[in-house]
Amino acid sequence: MVAIFDAISEPIARRITGGLVRIGLVLKSRAWKGAGSAGVTPTQGQALSMLREAPAGLHLSALAKLLGVSAPTASDMVNSLVAKGLARKEAGTDKRSITLKLTTDGEALAARTMEWPDFLGSAVEALAPAEQAAFLRMLVKLIRTLQINGDIPLQRMCITCRHFRPNAHDGPNPHHCAFVDAPFGDRHLRLNCAEQEEADDETKDANWQRFVARDAIIAAS
Ligand code: SF4
Repeated sequence: MVAIFDAISEPIARRITGGLVRIGLVLKSRAWKGAGSAGVTPTQGQALSMLREAPAGLHLSALAKLLGVSAPTASDMVNSLVAKGLARKEAGTDKRSITLKLTTDGEALAARTMEWPDFLGSAVEALAPAEQAAFLRMLVKLIRTLQINGDIPLQRMCITCRHFRPNAHDGPNPHHCAFVDAPFGDRHLRLNCAEQEEADDETKDANWQRFVARDAIIAAS
């Protein structure tokens, strides 16, 4: 009977992709709706969220990288946010370096943009805690591949961080963050950590091998 379904089913990767595309379409439509009523574009809303997650501010080049846009596009977008009173430019120690920060109005709007995908958050919360942790682990792996293939902007994830020590401990919190010097589990993996510092390629490869080595243990448990 299984063979029949193998014959009549689309490859599983295509069905998963189809599901993700559907969720992506809803996210996009919600973002346009939320952005329209807030007087910004979805990308500007995303920029506000990025700035909210970096209280020390971000350089224009870092923001451009996170959003996956060119420096001139990021510059135009930031000028528009500044003109709307949502962001401000602060001179760094080096006169040529400008740090971008949110204004009070920008903070308030950024908090609202974080609510745009709330409908999805409710659906994720309906999953069991173990399923959420497994889902987060899979997302990390998926995003890493997209990042390597150049299909997604650089993300500030644990998996590529120089402070990440995967599977350094036994038990439910096997990983270690050298930045805060504390163990943590898959459920704590970060996709956008303000303290993340990109590791060198050799460290990233070694960490990846140590991270995925646990897949066999998870599959057997
Ligand atoms: S500093 Fe942040 S990204 Fe790096 S390992 Fe610690 S929690 Fe993860």
